[in-house]
Amino acid sequence: MKVTRLQIAARGLANRCPNCGERTLFKARSLFTVNPECPACGLKIERDEGFFLGSMSLNYGVTLVCFLIPVTLLAYRGVIGTTAAIVIAGVGSIAVPALLYRSSRSCWLMAYYLFLPKHLPANQPGTQPGEDQNT
Ligand SMILES: [Zn+2]
Repeated sequence: MKVTRLQIAARGLANRCPNCGERTLFKARSLFTVNPECPACGLKIERDEGFFLGSMSLNYGVTLVCFLIPVTLLAYRGVIGTTAAIVIAGVGSIAVPALLYRSSRSCWLMAYYLFLPKHLPANQPGTQPGEDQNT
């Protein structure tokens, strides 16, 4: 296997292509637009319609556990006022998922290839660029 699971994890945490390691998951000069395929190696990034629903769930879960529940507990304990907690939670429920958008997409793609590393074109000796077993 050319690309190891450790490399896939490192590339996923750094928002890089899991196949070649280039910074090509998102379009240049764009915050939220995912490249349909890697311009460097041709890996198909944009998959079928529901593939990235998992990244949205991951993003929602992290926002809930790491931001909204602590704000709620601070309000419950009286550390911050109820109005302040509502405002912080409202702003944070929009801002935190936006901040985590790129990382959650990258982590979801990383998780897929961590479980199925042989689906990476770099790990398939006979495949052409842009072609994998899950197309
Ligand atoms: Zn690539």
